Amino acid sequence: MYKCMNCGNTEKFIGHAEEKGNVLIYKNESDNFTEPYSWVYMVSEKNWDSKLTIDKCFYCQSKNIVKL
Ligand SMILES: [Zn+2]
Repeated sequence: MYKCMNCGNTEKFIGHAEEKGNVLIYKNESDNFTEPYSWVYMVSEKNWDSKLTIDKCFYCQSKNIVKL
């Protein structure tokens, strides 16, 4: 779990991933037009080889993120 020390956000972050495994890809049906991504995918936590890096807070762009 991650937390933005600037605004307290614990819900959404921007980052990048190195990933390898099977995914289920589907169109994002969200009505939230602030959402910049039109496609999302689900992964299984089993048999998934990935390295996830958090870059910054989705809301305030702060890079002061801590791992809880
Ligand atoms: Zn923040």
